[in-house]
Amino acid sequence: AFNADAVPQAPEDPLFGLMAAYKRDTDPNKVDVGVGAYRDDNAKPWVLPVVKKADDLLRADPNLNHEYLPIAGLAEFTTASQKLILGADSPAIKDKRVTSLQTVSGTGAVHLGALFLSKFYKPSSKRTVYFSDPTWPNHFQIFSNVGLSYKTYPYFSKETRGLNFDGVIDTLQNADEGSIIVLHACAHNPTGVDPTQEQWKKIAEVIRAKKHFPFFDTAYQGFASGDLARDGWAIRYFIEQGFELCIAQSYAKNFGLYGERAGCFHFVTAPSSDAQSTVIRVASQLAILQRSEISNPPAYGARIASLILNDPTLFAEWERDLKTMSGRIIDMRKALRTKLEELGTPGTWNHITDQIGMFSFTGLTEEQVLKVREDSHVYMTKNGRISMAGLNKHNIDYFAKAVDKAVK
Ligand code: PLP
Repeated sequence: AFNADAVPQAPEDPLFGLMAAYKRDTDPNKVDVGVGAYRDDNAKPWVLPVVKKADDLLRADPNLNHEYLPIAGLAEFTTASQKLILGADSPAIKDKRVTSLQTVSGTGAVHLGALFLSKFYKPSSKRTVYFSDPTWPNHFQIFSNVGLSYKTYPYFSKETRGLNFDGVIDTLQNADEGSIIVLHACAHNPTGVDPTQEQWKKIAEVIRAKKHFPFFDTAYQGFASGDLARDGWAIRYFIEQGFELCIAQSYAKNFGLYGERAGCFHFVTAPSSDAQSTVIRVASQLAILQRSEISNPPAYGARIASLILNDPTLFAEWERDLKTMSGRIIDMRKALRTKLEELGTPGTWNHITDQIGMFSFTGLTEEQVLKVREDSHVYMTKNGRISMAGLNKHNIDYFAKAVDKAVK
């Protein structure tokens, strides 16, 4: 018989625990640099003006209803999502080598991909999934929950606070042939460190030579550099090189649609004479997995994103909103580096401006992280990651001084 008494207590999710501790803190100067969500210059959540506009349009539509979406989701959303990530002129789209399903945001897309691979990915050697060390912690849970075993490839260099490129190449080279390699397309979470285009080319070479399978996780397109094509470059390069791959795409950050759970999973087959029939078979299996997991995806966020993605005027407005968010974050990086250098805080701080996207790996030790929390009410994750979006004109001086005090 099932004995529920024997179910052990699971540890609290560290990030959500940190958020709760921040909420409980009553200090007026407290700073939240833990949460991975954009904040405006007043530390408030920001509804993108273009999203507000799309939302108003939807609400005014007398024909809007609450019917189920199809299993694969809203077709105009998934088609626009393909174009966004692959580029409208992508050979993969032209050759009908892509199948896409709308998912429960990026998490759901990673999960659907992991589940599909757990069932159908059968390389001749033992199959292993490789994550960067460190990575978005949920990768570990998602892939192990579907029964795939994982290892990591070194990624972050503690010395340079940049990419451990030799470590990446060496590990991918020595991995069993046909391993699944999870790659962050841009704005690596949690480090903010991305390979250069030249480094991506080398990574692609090793993946090709070792017949590995690339699994791209893209949660920050447009949000990182403000330029959608630039942030999509790595994926487009792999496609150009003829890889078979999959992509988990999130719209949480770049549309600010966090709670609406809009995302997309894409499977792209390699160019071949029967690529189209392969894609149809893959799509049929993905549909069964989707049906058993969620039946059909949530509609509202996808409707908003779809309206914007498919309307040139709204799209252009969205690009401006992306620049507002990425620009503010880049400004905060510059300001933080300058302030730490002015204070003479021990160490080098160029990594703050070298890194990109929402997060920065500061290099603060766990001890220093706890010290800034206790002394200055500044909340960051234990690994020293800060969300740049938590900083603003009003708190950046306070934050820099708090870091300075903890490091000195
Ligand atoms: N993948 C990475 C690397 C992320 O950083 C995130 C969000 O933090 C996600 C996926 C998925 O997020 P969501 O499920 O909110 O789209």
